[in-house]
Amino acid sequence: MRFDIVSVIPEILKGPFSNSILKKAITKGVIEVYVHDLKQYGIGKRKQVDDYPYGGGDGMVLRIEPVYQCFYNLLSERNYDEKIFMTPEGKVFSQKDAQEFTQKKNILILCGRYKGIDQRIRDHLISKEISIGHYVLSGGELAAAVIVEAIVRLLPGVINNPDSILTDSFQKNIPPPPLYTRPRIYKGWEVPKILLSGHHKKIKDWQNKKSLQDKNKKKIKF
Ligand code: SAH
Repeated sequence: MRFDIVSVIPEILKGPFSNSILKKAITKGVIEVYVHDLKQYGIGKRKQVDDYPYGGGDGMVLRIEPVYQCFYNLLSERNYDEKIFMTPEGKVFSQKDAQEFTQKKNILILCGRYKGIDQRIRDHLISKEISIGHYVLSGGELAAAVIVEAIVRLLPGVINNPDSILTDSFQKNIPPPPLYTRPRIYKGWEVPKILLSGHHKKIKDWQNKKSLQDKNKKKIKF
């Protein structure tokens, strides 16, 4: 699976892609990730990518030409299953979306900046708008890293113990049970005795009961 991420500040994406699961997925060849610097396609000597909004108003707007040129180059080399714009106005990304994306091959992601982007980019160059939640970030880079990580950890060969994914939140309709590890007692706080019993059936029943209790308490739709 291949991701092309287009950004005005590509440096932000270095951290997420050079550590842990995403790094491993790249090293193993499960995914390829290319980050493209929009400033390279900027206009004039100053490589400008933003400008004042027509009609006035606060904040700057990402211009269409650098985005068009960058997309044009990428699209002339391959087809993309999705051309995504990260935006708080998009559909909020869910675990189900992450699952569906695992079936795709080439994904192009545009990270926004400034007050927003020229509407013509959204109208003519983008196939899907995705948000990571109902709050506003200063740019789409972290949001892009979030959705890529959610997708990539589901791909075969990425997580050491793939069965572990099956019991993650939102995979089934109940939350995972509480987890404990050593020491058995810490500052007087004890691990539930049932977990030390070695009785697998009873442990499973206890875990299911706890998950259901949590589901009712948290009122989150799993
Ligand atoms: N003025 C815009 C926000 C611009 S924030 C508004 O009110 O909707 C600048 C950029 O950050 C956006 O273009 C988008 O790419 C990114 N961004 C901010 N919040 C985001 C979120 N919740 N999900 C995805 N991308 C987000």
